Amino acid sequence: MAQRVTLIPGDGIGPELAEATRRVLDASGVPFEWEVVDAGEAMIAEYGTPLPDHVLDSIRRNKIAIKGPITTPVGAGFRSVNVALRQTLNLYANLRPARSLKGVASRYDDVDLVIVRENTEDLYAGIEHMVGKDAAESIKIITRAASERIARFAFEYAVANRRRKVTAVHKANIMKLSDGLFLESCRTVAEDYARRIEFEDRIVDNMCMQLVQKPDQYDVLVLPNLYGDIVSDLCAGLVGGLGVAPGANIGEDGAVFEAVHGSAPKYAGKNRANPTALMLSGVLMLRHLGHPEVAERVETAIREVIAEGLATTPDLGGTGTTSGFADAVIARIGSAVSIG
Ligand code: NAD
Repeated sequence: MAQRVTLIPGDGIGPELAEATRRVLDASGVPFEWEVVDAGEAMIAEYGTPLPDHVLDSIRRNKIAIKGPITTPVGAGFRSVNVALRQTLNLYANLRPARSLKGVASRYDDVDLVIVRENTEDLYAGIEHMVGKDAAESIKIITRAASERIARFAFEYAVANRRRKVTAVHKANIMKLSDGLFLESCRTVAEDYARRIEFEDRIVDNMCMQLVQKPDQYDVLVLPNLYGDIVSDLCAGLVGGLGVAPGANIGEDGAVFEAVHGSAPKYAGKNRANPTALMLSGVLMLRHLGHPEVAERVETAIREVIAEGLATTPDLGGTGTTSGFADAVIARIGSAVSIG
């Protein structure tokens, strides 16, 4: 039976990357049935909201979605559709692996990090108000329940994927209550894994320096929402940039797969954005759906096309196109693959 998946193309470079990714996933041998639904600013005129109910209903029904990036107005305008999706569907864990790719020029050859970012609270709770005309307040929410849940996700991920260490990242020296609670929650959960997975913590500013200088010393990182967002872009930079950084938002009742990057409007419609990040998000989806061998095959095809360097996009120094990269990956996967 075909696997039904909600596909949200997004805006900016989203639709062309979503199309390239859908073609690659269709070539993987797993039969997919795509339910295409749109979200973002263009929906407001018709539905009065950038995130119509039928989009949420589709993901709730299928329990699995893959989405292109969606633009969020800066400073004013509607709240981020991406954040709203994660919060409404309680997709509490944001998984963002950063792994070096052969053929991609970067400072290190052997980076293999996994960011586990809390996805539902912290400053992303969006509780902001003006205090008079000339001051603004944004409230940072950290709860024990959400912190322990994300820490447990990180340790369970480490066990399941044979990783050796979890590092909790925080600023508990300054935010003693909020980040202090996050750290305390991570320590509590770490005790349950004491003999299996090493645990340590780092203050976020020091963590950034350490990652730039010696990324090989780190393995799985668990962070509150905002630090997780920032540090995952840093880690993307370590392995070749946002064009190659995949992600997954995972909850109890569903998962939404998306690249770390945004809608890069200046490249929209130019057939030059790199589809690797969304394709690798598709690889995470294949693993999540229980097709590890197919996932491995698709990932290998992507890695080989990049290593060969003939079809890579300009962000990786190539002259290839979004659609041409997809064609090259599909040719490598082969047309007659069996389902693993
Ligand atoms: P961005 O990630 O869209 O782009 C930053 C830069 O990275 C681009 O200018 C481009 O040089 C490069 N880049 C990103 N993706 C690339 C790709 N696939 N191929 C080649 N180069 C790529 O970040 P931004 O400019 O800060 O944000 C643009 C919009 O995207 C904003 O509205 C923001 O809110 C939104 N956004 C959405 C998501 C999401 O949908 N999950 C995530 C981040 C940002």
